Amino acid sequence: MQKKKFCPFCAGSLVEHFTEGRMRSCCGSCGKIMYENPIPAACTLVLNQENHLLLVKRGVPPKEGEWCLPGGFMELEEGPEETALRELKEETGLQGKIDRLIGVTAHPSAMYGAVLITGFLVRSFSGSPVSGDDAEDIAFFPMDRLPPLAFDSHMRFVRIYRDLYMP
Ligand SMILES: [Zn+2]
Repeated sequence: MQKKKFCPFCAGSLVEHFTEGRMRSCCGSCGKIMYENPIPAACTLVLNQENHLLLVKRGVPPKEGEWCLPGGFMELEEGPEETALRELKEETGLQGKIDRLIGVTAHPSAMYGAVLITGFLVRSFSGSPVSGDDAEDIAFFPMDRLPPLAFDSHMRFVRIYRDLYMP
């Protein structure tokens, strides 16, 4: 994870202290503790009539050029469902409707420390797929011929989906 050096409130230097059960960065000037928490994100498993899964090829780091589920980080005013559908629209042009929650999982992130990601199933959608923001390409893949996915968390949602609907 990228290390923070200065306090975002007073610009004082951060120092490591054992506090509240673990080593944490604290401001040497104002004393605030810099809590580090997973960043919430949401993604969608979009299945078409043939039961093929929609994947986007990442056009930006990390994992540029690899395939993953459409998704991204939550904005402050959003609920996870809104995030998932907004990201779907931005990355693929599709307007989706949430079918159900698939799962919630956390995974380590080199940049943010950890990401807490919620996966939703989308079976009904409108529009035709066009690669948008941050996406180099998009395609529907048969479930038994998926390319390697960029993130373990996304693979986990795929496995949950298979266990639920393709036993
Ligand atoms: Zn400070």
